[in-house]
Amino acid sequence: MALSDISTRIAAAERAAGRNAGAVRLIAVSKVQPLERVEAVLEGGHRLFGENYVQEAAGKWPDLRARFGAVAVHMIGPLQTNKAKVAVELFDAIHTVDRPSLAEKLARLAQDRGRCPELFVQVNTGAEPQKAGVLPDDLDAFLATCRGMDLPVQGLMCIPPEGEDSAPHFAMLAGMAARNGISGLSMGMSGDFEAAIAAGATHVRVGSAIFGARTYAS
Ligand SMILES: *Cc1c(COP(=O)(O)O)cnc(C)c1O
Repeated sequence: MALSDISTRIAAAERAAGRNAGAVRLIAVSKVQPLERVEAVLEGGHRLFGENYVQEAAGKWPDLRARFGAVAVHMIGPLQTNKAKVAVELFDAIHTVDRPSLAEKLARLAQDRGRCPELFVQVNTGAEPQKAGVLPDDLDAFLATCRGMDLPVQGLMCIPPEGEDSAPHFAMLAGMAARNGISGLSMGMSGDFEAAIAAGATHVRVGSAIFGARTYAS
């Protein structure tokens, strides 16, 4: 499906939810996509992308930014603490802050650099053992830890369990954000971004619906 179709669906979902036009930002998730598909979306004028892997993004975006001008790239995959330094140089936002050791590292880097990417805390709303993210019960304490380090948190992010209705997870995340005075909500992917917009998403992360299916090298 073309980018313009996704944009049209986002605009319709904003209207249906009584939200302002342009309230939702579309992150085009370009991880493991062939370069020519990414270039086509850039040529179409889109300037906000999401990546999951530091190394892949580092190999791709410096050159694309040189060719296409200012492009915002958001880190949406798990971030190892030892890659935090590269990540803060490369990304405009990190959606996957999920543990004190990473928060500490980011706070130190922010202090050294005098600036910090926009930060989202990932919440494991389904409390799935294999999934990254702060458990819902631990969120308020974790946010207090971040505040104690002067680390600004602009948003919350979640990936609902596969095969479950996403809507209750989106509602849970929106409630946790409201309770904590946080305005950013990164939620919704190719299969459920309209439900996320209805629940208040400010950022939707859409990959395969824009670029086509991902083929992972075996
Ligand atoms: C890959 C990925 C997406 C995009 O998924 P699609 O189903 O292709 O839209 C969104 N968010 C995260 C965290 C991802 O890893």
